[in-house]
This record gives sequence, structure tokens and C-alpha cells, in this order.
Amino acid sequence: MMKCKWCGKETDGEEYCSEKCRVESQGTLVISRRKQFLYNRSRNYRILVDGVEVASLENRESTTARVAPGRHKVQAKIDWCKSRPVEVDVKSGEQLQLQIGCYVRFPYVWRIILFPIYLIMPGWYLFIRRI
Ligand SMILES: [Zn+2]
Repeated sequence: MMKCKWCGKETDGEEYCSEKCRVESQGTLVISRRKQFLYNRSRNYRILVDGVEVASLENRESTTARVAPGRHKVQAKIDWCKSRPVEVDVKSGEQLQLQIGCYVRFPYVWRIILFPIYLIMPGWYLFIRRI
């Protein structure tokens, strides 16, 4: 017999007794972009949690993603480039702040030049971190 992870009620083998309990137990990731110049402004950042895309930041400054409590790997992705993953521990009802940024602020053409460097050092160009 399993017990609901949120309210403790017995369930028939499910982690949560109801959708409501599952949602209430979640934590929230608040992901914001670091203010930048024109470069990157119009491009989408996509947020991956445990390898699955959960949110994208278009022209907005921040977005949120709901995640189950526990440890997660969060990555940011832009075009060809992925950040190194950060590990976060999210508790029920908790709100974690993450920030995405870019180490390079060169014009578009630099991406072509920098691409080989990225192949050698993936995650070097884009970062995501807790704030
Ligand atoms: Zn429950």
C-alpha cells in the first residue's frame, strides 16, 4: 500500500492520491534572463529540466516551471548551445530563482567563429545558476 506523498492518504499504488495533491506538492523554478544588450534579445532561451523542455523565454524577462519535489538538473539552451546543467533541490512549495546569461556579447557572426570552441568546451558560452 502506498501513501500519498503530500497528504499521507492511502492510494492504490500512485505517488499522489489526487491531481490536486500532486500539483500542491510541486515547487517552482523562476528563471530570469540577465539584462543584456541587443544581442540575444530576440532569441529564445529554452529551459530543460532533466532533459525535457519545460519552458521557453521569448522576449519576456522571466518564466516559471513547476517541478516535482526532489533533485533536478536544469539546463538552458539557445540555438546550438546548451549550458552546463545545474543541480537544484526543490522542496514542496518552494520557489527557486535561477538566472540565465551568456558570456559572450558579440554580434551574430561570432557564433560561427566560436562554434569550434564550443565543441571543445560545451557549456562554456551559456550559463545558468542559482541566485
Ligand atoms: Zn493526497
